[in-house]
Amino acid sequence: MSPQSLRHLVIILGDQLDADALALTDFDPTRDALWMAEVAEESTHIPSSKQRTALFLSAMRHFAKAQRALGRLLHYTLLDDTANTGTLAGELTRTLAHTRPEKLVMNAPGDWRVLKAIQAVAREHNIPLDLKDDTHFITTVREFAAHAKGRKQLRLEYFYREVRRKTGLLMESNDPTKPIGGQWNFDADNRGAFPAEGPTNVPPPVRFAPDAITRDVMALVQTRFASNPGTLDSFAWPVTRAQALDVLAAFITHRLPLFGRYQDAMWQGEVWLYHSHISCALNLKLLHPLEVARAAEQAYQRGDAPLEAVEGFIRQVIGWREYVRGIYWTQMPEYIDRNALQAEHPLPAVYWTGESEMACMRDAVQQTLAHGYAHHIQRLMVTGLYALLFGARPQEVHAWYLGVYVDAVEWVELPNTLGMSQFADGGVMASKPYAATGKYIQRMSNYCKGCRFKPDERIGPNACPMTTLYWDFLIRHQPLLAQNPRMALQVRNVDRISDDEKQAIQAQATAHRAQAG
Ligand code: FAD
Ligand code: SF4
Repeated sequence: MSPQSLRHLVIILGDQLDADALALTDFDPTRDALWMAEVAEESTHIPSSKQRTALFLSAMRHFAKAQRALGRLLHYTLLDDTANTGTLAGELTRTLAHTRPEKLVMNAPGDWRVLKAIQAVAREHNIPLDLKDDTHFITTVREFAAHAKGRKQLRLEYFYREVRRKTGLLMESNDPTKPIGGQWNFDADNRGAFPAEGPTNVPPPVRFAPDAITRDVMALVQTRFASNPGTLDSFAWPVTRAQALDVLAAFITHRLPLFGRYQDAMWQGEVWLYHSHISCALNLKLLHPLEVARAAEQAYQRGDAPLEAVEGFIRQVIGWREYVRGIYWTQMPEYIDRNALQAEHPLPAVYWTGESEMACMRDAVQQTLAHGYAHHIQRLMVTGLYALLFGARPQEVHAWYLGVYVDAVEWVELPNTLGMSQFADGGVMASKPYAATGKYIQRMSNYCKGCRFKPDERIGPNACPMTTLYWDFLIRHQPLLAQNPRMALQVRNVDRISDDEKQAIQAQATAHRAQAG
């Protein structure tokens, strides 16, 4: 094929690794070519952890190999190509300097920044850009926007019910308007803590020894991004669809039955528990959310997993995941700069070192740096809670979450971090801040048993920093939070504290911030 006769140049980004994507359905090997690029910018615009970069690069190389095996022409820039400009826009420009396709075709990118960069290149070269709907979601952004239109407040529950009706998942077969079990949501049954002896017989996670492609990538990441966060020693994530399907199958068989009960529970040193560990595969598009949800539903139909576990899991996959994407695309680009609580402190050093006297933070951050993974409650109610109460600048918190987790892509990470966890959007995502004392962590884990602080003390040498900062948070934001009916009870408790004690709490919080900096 001569460069002049190229019909479509099909752009495939690192998180678009699906051979059946819409952008590829019309692929004609005699007239079209694929385009992929490994670029440093994606690991440096925020410092991406070594695990995250290695996962993306390895999955991209495996995908590229499979596409070449189909005989497809592929323009692929390696990270260590000496001519690599380091940016997606730069690489696309370089390709277009010697290739003139009639059209650029791609699935709509997940990130605003990337969309803008590619649109700018297409405009500059005066080449049409055909953006296909990303069929890797169950709902479109248009559907979400229609749902959101005219609503004063957006809440997951109503959107989730619409998606349940649309898919028929867990709906009565004789009346598809009715949820199986007579209720939509079994959240109240999904908040168990482990018994005193902790979790027993947790099934081992499905992990993959790095193959030659992954080992090459790991060596490259190790030298190229030596100072980026985290380590690669434990790298074992799924990098192909076949591997991702293995992780899903093992979850459905071994972990799903207890997923619901222990969804919120944490335990020192227990990284994997009863979670699915499929978020990275879903976000790279190695798995489709509907196949994941159907697999869980079938486990319920076979009698292999209880309804509360299956509903709880399906709600995450077809509810929260779709909902945060809708929030992202209907709120960007202003969303990323929001800071409703005017939090301006720098993110404390523990986020990068994992060194802290706070046992909960130490465990959650150390496992994050080692594996690029922590489960939802560790993210929301340990690292997220601490940043919220500390008053860390939400954009720094966002950069941390986007950098360190293997599943982090901005469309999903940003609303979770800036909205749900930091309340920086003023309540678009969550109806109230997720603020709690150390007693929540004590209830849901064994962290406090191994900690020198006392979760029920708010001042004094043994006071738990989470608890001190919680009261400081309520005192600092009392006027704003008092307007929120869901916070009224919490905020009224501030009035029961004497002025002297309030001052002591604030002084201790200030001292903690200075020392944690
Ligand atoms: P499981 O607990 O087994 O849940 C099943 C699946 O449900 C997940 O794989 C995921 O795809 C989906 N899911 C669950 N909760 C959410 C949610 N709140 N939003 C979107 N999808 C959800 N998830 C990401 O995929 N990428 C991120 O960058 C990300 N950043 C987060 C940042 C913060 C501050 C918080 C509080 C949550 C974040 N989440 C993110 C959501 C959630 O924590 C992860 O999806 C989950 O921990 C991944 O582990 P798992 O696959 O074992 O999930
Ligand atoms: Fe965390 Fe406080 Fe418990 Fe220590 S006492 S583990 S700091 S919640």
